[in-house]
Amino acid sequence: MGLLIRNARFVVTVDSARRVLEKASIYVEDGRIVEVGFFEELKYAKKDDVIIDASNSIVTPGFIQTHVHLVQTAFRGLADDLSLLDWLKLRIWPLEASISKEGVYYAALLSLLELLKGGTTSIINFGSVRYEDEIFKAMYKSGIRGASGKILMDLDEEAPRELIEDTERALSESESLLKKWHGKDGRLFYMVTPRFVLSCSEECLKAAVEQAREYGVRIQTHASENREEVRLVKERTGLWNVEYLHKIGMTGNNVILVHCIWLTDDEMRLLAETGTHVTHCPSANLKLASGIAKVPELLKLGVNVTLGADGAPCNNNLDVFVEMRHAALIQKARLLDPTVMSASTVLEMATVNGAKALGLEKEVGSIEVGKKADITLISLNHPRIRPFTKYHDPLSTIVYAAQSSDVEYTIINGEIIVEKGKVLTVDEEDTVKKMDKIVEKLIEKLNMDLVERRKEKIITQSG
Ligand SMILES: [Zn+2]
Repeated sequence: MGLLIRNARFVVTVDSARRVLEKASIYVEDGRIVEVGFFEELKYAKKDDVIIDASNSIVTPGFIQTHVHLVQTAFRGLADDLSLLDWLKLRIWPLEASISKEGVYYAALLSLLELLKGGTTSIINFGSVRYEDEIFKAMYKSGIRGASGKILMDLDEEAPRELIEDTERALSESESLLKKWHGKDGRLFYMVTPRFVLSCSEECLKAAVEQAREYGVRIQTHASENREEVRLVKERTGLWNVEYLHKIGMTGNNVILVHCIWLTDDEMRLLAETGTHVTHCPSANLKLASGIAKVPELLKLGVNVTLGADGAPCNNNLDVFVEMRHAALIQKARLLDPTVMSASTVLEMATVNGAKALGLEKEVGSIEVGKKADITLISLNHPRIRPFTKYHDPLSTIVYAAQSSDVEYTIINGEIIVEKGKVLTVDEEDTVKKMDKIVEKLIEKLNMDLVERRKEKIITQSG
């Protein structure tokens, strides 16, 4: 059985020539792209082929977000208007320390529903200290492609004790999860994920680097997101954050550093020289008032910069369209120059650059013959996208006008995961209901002051 995506208004391939094909088709067989462009359908047609009419759609490579926190979706709307370190200490860490095993699973499913419906086909998830296995189970069920890892934290006086683990025990759990999930179905991968320098001893960070090297997997950590964080790292180590990470071996082609806002010029060059990947999370950086990363400057130096929504409580969505729009707009305003971030650069960040960070650039990230069929179809139906004539640029439509609700189909490994806006692999109604119940209990258990605030503001009928 094959899949024919027929007569697309445009196919934005993001291939090496950056070809955009008008009125083109794609044929997929056994999960891979067999042909792209203008071909005789009869050449491939089989009786049981699935056919999608794409005449009113823009077809793009599936979007890739290289930094999300699936667990934190349970905390959406519970941690607004705080700066990074307070956001962590007052809300996120207590919540992460208390959420149940079932809560982790449903938070992951809820996030995956949002991501898939919004056309994201691959992720790097910054996992959980507790119940990481549940996240992999949810990712497996959903059909998404991507990596996740157990969060390593062995040091922090201000984090709840449930999150601070014995270094050796944490690393050994990380290793057994790696052995269980890395390479599962060729779709799921393990990634070593120490939280950030302030939450980890040097022993833990060095062991994390060693674990990633030993098994040939990637490593991700948060770095230089916040000025106070950078100051504390300098106080503890005598070095700037990225300089310190470099000293202990955490730079290079298998390393993805998230945020990288507060960097010295030397650190920026260091990232380029070592081939370290950087994930930019514009919405989270704006909402936590962390600052604006120097993305055009990093790209100019040759750094591979990718995109991610980060966690729902600091965004508050996991929407790649919002991230693309913000990534473009904030640089234009920062540099007072509308040309510094084009739609095409931003689209590369959300596709091919993301694939490179995952180490999957030969498999996904663009629509090319031989690659895995991870494909997103964006409908041209909504008035917000029109007019759309032969003179319009589909890249502009994707980055500046489209929204996640315009995604009609999300295809991963040649399988239709989202069909006409509906996720086929996860029960949306059940997940939403269960999540509400779990989170209500969690808030009551923690007796957070937001319960008090809510009482003040919302008057219910019962009085
Ligand atoms: Zn994060």
